[in-house]
Amino acid sequence: MVNLVLFGPPGAGKGTQSEKLIEKYGFVHISTGDLFRWHTKNETSLGKKVKEIMDSGALVPDSITIAMLKEELDKNPDANGFLFDGFPRTVDQAQALDQFMKENNSGIHFVIALDVPEKELRERIAKRKLTSNRADDEVEKLNKRVNEYFGKTIHVLPYYKKNDRLNTVNGVGEIDKIFSAICAVLDKK
Ligand code: ADP
Repeated sequence: MVNLVLFGPPGAGKGTQSEKLIEKYGFVHISTGDLFRWHTKNETSLGKKVKEIMDSGALVPDSITIAMLKEELDKNPDANGFLFDGFPRTVDQAQALDQFMKENNSGIHFVIALDVPEKELRERIAKRKLTSNRADDEVEKLNKRVNEYFGKTIHVLPYYKKNDRLNTVNGVGEIDKIFSAICAVLDKK
């Protein structure tokens, strides 16, 4: 069983690459962004709690995010490998994830960080906004999301680097080329 964290700023292409990875390797996909969007769309009590925070582009508090993640892990006891997309976004989340994995005698084996320059990210999201219907793709909210990334989430990288799990892949270029570069990392070990 191999567990993977796909890491990167908003607009890095995590969703696109996740789909391809799932098709090839059969991971169970856990996207905290998708889970939160499901809750807000279905107006669950969790959804009502996080809607405003998400729409503003801010991160949902760790206590809520980690509890939701744990619930999702518990729903998939027989998974033959998880792909985490959009989680962890803080060092506390990364530590909680390691702890959950350890409790199941498992671990995070790979962290793949998609590297995309900030200017390109802003251009991509501006384009996505035209079709996505996502309230948080509006310009000022996008700024907040990018700031949250560079203020909080980026600190997760040294956490994984420290114990030698970090692999950086260039996230600019053709989708299939980026995908091949990710597969090369996974297939190497
Ligand atoms: P993006 O496209 O910006 O990478 P996601 O779809 O992963 O965004 O997440 C959308 C929003 O959901 C975030 O801006 C944040 O409000 C919330 N969210 C998702 N994952 C997390 C997380 N791990 N911790 C805190 N908030 C999160």
